[in-house]
Amino acid sequence: MLYRKDEITGNSLSQLGFGCMRLPRSAFGIDIKESEEIIRLAIDNGINFFDTAYMYKGSEEALGTIINNLRVRDKIYLTSKLPWLMAKKSEDLENYLNESLSRLKTDYIDYYFIHLLTDYSAWEKLVSWGIIERIDEWKKSGKIRSIGFSFHGSYSDYIKILNAYDWEMCILQYNYSDENFQAGIRGIRAAKKRGIPVVIMEPLLGGRLANALPEKALHEFRHANTLAGINRTPAEWAFDWLWNQPEPTVILSGMNSVSMVKENITSASRAKEGMLTESELSTIQKVREIWNESNKVNCTGCGYCMPCPMGVNIPGCFASYNASFSQGRMYGLRSYFMSTSLLNNPQIASKCVRCGKCEKICPQKIPIMESLADVKKRLEPAPFMLMMMLSRKFTGKDKKK
Ligand code: SF4
Ligand code: SF4
Repeated sequence: MLYRKDEITGNSLSQLGFGCMRLPRSAFGIDIKESEEIIRLAIDNGINFFDTAYMYKGSEEALGTIINNLRVRDKIYLTSKLPWLMAKKSEDLENYLNESLSRLKTDYIDYYFIHLLTDYSAWEKLVSWGIIERIDEWKKSGKIRSIGFSFHGSYSDYIKILNAYDWEMCILQYNYSDENFQAGIRGIRAAKKRGIPVVIMEPLLGGRLANALPEKALHEFRHANTLAGINRTPAEWAFDWLWNQPEPTVILSGMNSVSMVKENITSASRAKEGMLTESELSTIQKVREIWNESNKVNCTGCGYCMPCPMGVNIPGCFASYNASFSQGRMYGLRSYFMSTSLLNNPQIASKCVRCGKCEKICPQKIPIMESLADVKKRLEPAPFMLMMMLSRKFTGKDKKK
C-alpha cells in the first residue's frame, strides 16, 4: 500500500480509503461475517482509513462491531459524519456525535465531518447553532481529533465555506467524468493550497464508471490496454486517473466483496503521482466524451432521496434510464422491467406525485421530478405497461389480499 501525508496531523493515510456506505448486505441488514472478512483483508493489506456516517444505514454499528472483533481501533483512522440536516435543535448535534461514538464502540473519532454541506447558508445556520463552540469542546474532550466537511454544491459556496473556518480535511466528489463538477479540481487545489487534505468520494460515480460504460468507451480502454501491453480494468483507469494527480490524499472506494478489495489494493499498491502517459490521458479524455454523451441523469445511487412516500425506486429508475442510452433502449427497458415492475409494489416513475421531498436532499441537485417524467416517457411505453400488467396478473402480484 502507498500512503499520502495529512500535513496537518502528520498522519500517513493509505491512498485507498475504505468507504463503508455499501458494505455487503443480507436480508437482515449488513452481513457482519462477510464485511468482517473484507475489512480484515483491507487492514492486512495496509488500508488504514475507514469512512462511515451516521446516515449510512447500519454502517456505524457494523463497523464498530467489526473493529471491536478484530481489535484494530489503534491501527486505523476512523471517520464519521454529523447528520446536521436531521437536527431540529442545536442540542441534537451533541446527541448525534455521542450516538456515533456509541455505535462505533469507541471514545474518539479521528476525522469528524459536517455531512452534506451544500451552500454557505447551511454553514451560517450551523454557526448560529453554536457549532464552532461545540467543535472546540469536542476536540478538548478528545471525542474528535480533526474536523472537516463533506460538500455537494457550487464552487463559489465551497470557497466561502472553506475560508470560513480552520478546517482540517474535506471530502469532495471527483472523478474523470467531469473535472469541474461541484467544487471540482479548482476546489481541490484551493484546499491543498491551504494545506487541507482532500478525500475523494464517488471516484467511480457510484460504480457506474466501472460497470456501466458504453461499449464504445470500453473499446477505447481495451485498445489502449493492447497498445501498452497492460490489462487495466475500467475501475483501475478511473482510480489511476485520480492517483496520477498530486492533490488528492485519500481516494475512497465503497468496497463490498473480496475480489473488489483485492483488485483495488493491487492498484493502490503501484499507483503513483505522474504515472499516466500523454496517450493514456488522451484515452481517458475520449472515454469522458463518450460517457457524457450517454449519461443523461447524474445519479450516483447514494439513496439519500429514499424512501419515496409513493414507493418510486428513484435510483433504480435513473439507472435503467441511463442504461437505455449507454447500452441500448431494449437493455434499459428490460432492466426497468426487472428492477421496478416485478416487485410486490411496482416502483415505476409514473407513481411520482411530485411532492418534491426527494429533490431537497439530493446531493447531485438532480431535478428528480422532471427527470422521472423523462424516464416515464422513455421507459413506460404502452406495450411496456401492458406487459407489466399481464405479467403481474400471471404471477399473482396483483391479487387482492
Ligand atoms: S417527488 Fe415524486 S419521486 Fe420524489 S419523493 Fe415525491 S413522489 Fe417520490
Ligand atoms: S437521485 Fe440524488 S439522492 Fe437519489 S440516489 Fe440519485 S444521486 Fe442520490
